[in-house]
This record gives sequence, structure tokens and C-alpha cells, in this order.
Amino acid sequence: MNATTDTRPAVEIVRVRKDYGGAVGVADVSLNVGKGEFVTLLGPSGCGKSTLLGMIAGFVTPTAGKIVVDGIDLTEVEPYRRDIGMVFQSYALFPHMNVFDNVAFGLRMRKLPKAEIETEVRRAIDMMKLGGFEERRVRQLSGGQQQRVALARAIVIRPKVLLLDEPLSALDKNLRAQMQVELSDLHRKTGLTTIFVTHDQGEALSLSDRIVVMNRGEVQQVAAPIELYRTPANGFVASFIGEINALPAARYEVAGDEAGLVLPGIGRLAAARRPEWSFAHGSDVHAFLRPEQVHPVRAGGTAVNAVNGVVTAHIYQGSHTITRVQVEGIGALETRVTGSEIIGDHPVGTTITLALDVGQAVLLPAG
Ligand code: ADP
Ligand code: MG
Repeated sequence: MNATTDTRPAVEIVRVRKDYGGAVGVADVSLNVGKGEFVTLLGPSGCGKSTLLGMIAGFVTPTAGKIVVDGIDLTEVEPYRRDIGMVFQSYALFPHMNVFDNVAFGLRMRKLPKAEIETEVRRAIDMMKLGGFEERRVRQLSGGQQQRVALARAIVIRPKVLLLDEPLSALDKNLRAQMQVELSDLHRKTGLTTIFVTHDQGEALSLSDRIVVMNRGEVQQVAAPIELYRTPANGFVASFIGEINALPAARYEVAGDEAGLVLPGIGRLAAARRPEWSFAHGSDVHAFLRPEQVHPVRAGGTAVNAVNGVVTAHIYQGSHTITRVQVEGIGALETRVTGSEIIGDHPVGTTITLALDVGQAVLLPAG
């Protein structure tokens, strides 16, 4: 392999669009996926994730644009000739066949010699820890086992790209967590270029090298999980990734290294200016604060950028409690509390002081 082919992206999605009648399924999406990368398409139901994946697989014909895999334009190529492995939420296994025959299906379609089929099926079955289940009908397997069969069937053809459309959504919480680890292991062992689809932001954050956040057929941001969490590009991404408190519009003030947010009815909150805050003095901004950037202040304590509000709920979560506070001039704020002292001192209906870590806030232009 020479240097040119080596650095070329595994998948190039070039200005791809899909219209369904008058409605937009996917609007003008461009995206490169590197060799061996694990990229997740994340967004609410109906945002176009499956449509985009379907166009890569070849089940959905783009209205415009092209799909290039390993440097070859596949836009006009039949799905079964694309060397792409795909797994669906619904597994889509052949219920009348046993595990071995399900996994062997793609290789038989490709008319590989029998001995080679044996070897490759063995490899995929071992990889997915399905040894001993070869003769079982798939309807005699649990949901998790069926999904491992679907994965084995997808990887057995040694695909150029593995596409996974909400493969874990049908599983219960514990099994889903276990399968997430298995997917990570599979990716590390095979190095397969993987495009994973989910509407679950936690799943996306834990599995992905990069996340593509989509809304209404459009890409909102493409970034590594930590970057998405810390520097969301817009209000949609800020609200969709993790928990966040959106503050009402504020006037941004800047004087040297200090920045200030002037909120009507609250006054001025000040912090050291962050390099990415490049707003002009006097512009309108929205501040977004994660729950961990809103700190309850113990009774009698003092704090900078403190606001008072009324506790409206304590939502017990096991390891911590989410406390919801209504602050005049701001609205509802959520904070995360560990330990019982704060909760004991501030039952629902009482006043609490919150310190806002404005220096850690995400600021976005308002309007
Ligand atoms: P997601 O997978 O993110 O939930 P989809 O890609 O399935 O979203 O759908 C994107 C949009 O396209 C939705 O508005 C959906 O209703 C529409 N859509 C998807 N498939 C079809 C279809 N076959 N015919 C008409 N509209 C469709
Ligand atoms: Mg879908």
C-alpha cells in the first residue's frame, strides 16, 4: 500500500442529499471517515441517520452527491457488491437457519470455496463468542446472542466498512452496557472502519472516536466526544450532549482579561475571559452551564457569582441527586448534589444559594 492510498479516507460522503417526495431526509451532508475510525451519527429520531447509513450501504439512492469507499465511487454500485457489512436494530437474521448458516450466508453468496467458508465462519463465530451455538436456530437465542450473530454475519465478509444502525436499542440496559464493551473490543481487535448510529448520547460519548451530531437532515457538528461536550458549536448540540442549563440572553462585556455577563434582574456575573470568547463588547450571548458548573452553597457560606433560588425538586439518582432550583431572572437551574447535607438543609420550597462557575460556561451568540 503506498502513502497516497494509505492516507485517503476510508469513506468519503460528498454533498449527499436525499429527498422523499417534498420532504428532506438528508440535506447536503459531506463527511470523511478515516481508516479504522469509529464514527457515530447521533441525533433525535427522524434526523436522517438511517437514511445516510442506507445511502452508504446502497439501500437508499441519493437524490444528489456521491459515496466513495477506499477511493472507489460506489454511488451506482449494487449494495451486495459494496463490501460493506451492516447490522440493524431488528437483527434481520434468517429465522429458519441455524447460526452457522446465518453467518455463512454472505460468503456463500460470494461463492467462496467450502473450506474457506468454514475457516472464515469459525473466525467470526469465535470473535463474537458464539462457539458451541453453530447448530442453534436463531429463534432459540436471546436478544444479545442474536445481535452477536448479526455482528458475526456482518464481519465475516471482511468488509471495508461496518455500518451499525442502532444495534443495541432493542436490548435492556445491562445487556446494552455489556454489548457496548463488546463492540469496543471488536473494533479494537479488527480495526474495522465503523459507522455507528444511535439516538443515545451516552452511548455515542462512550464508544466514538468522533461524533457527527445531526438534526433535521443536517450536520450540526463533527468532533471528538470531549470536544463536543466542552465546546458545542450551537445551542442544539449544547442541549443534546449531556445535561446543560441554558441561561437567558445576557449582555457580554469585556475589559482586558475580564469578561462579564449582565443578566436583567440578576446583575453582572464576572469571570476571567476565555480565549474562545471572541464576542464584541456589548453583544448579546447565551451562556450554557453544565450541572457540575452550578454549585450549591452551604447555608451561611459565601461565593462569587452567587444567585438565590427556590428548590423545586430533589431527584434521587443513586450516586448523586439532581436538585432543581427556580431562579428569578434565569429560570430553572439543575445542579448535582452528593451527600445528604445540602438536601437536608434545603427541602423543596426553601431558598438555596447557587454559585455559577461562569468561567467554565459555554457562550454562544444569541438570536
Ligand atoms: P433517523 O434514522 O434519524 O430516525 P430517518 O433517516 O429514518 O431518521 O428519517 C429521516 C426523515 O426522512 C424522517 O423525516 C422520515 O420520516 C423520512 N423518511 C425516512 N424514510 C422514508 C421513506 N422511505 N419515505 C418517506 N420518508 C422517509
Ligand atoms: Mg433510524
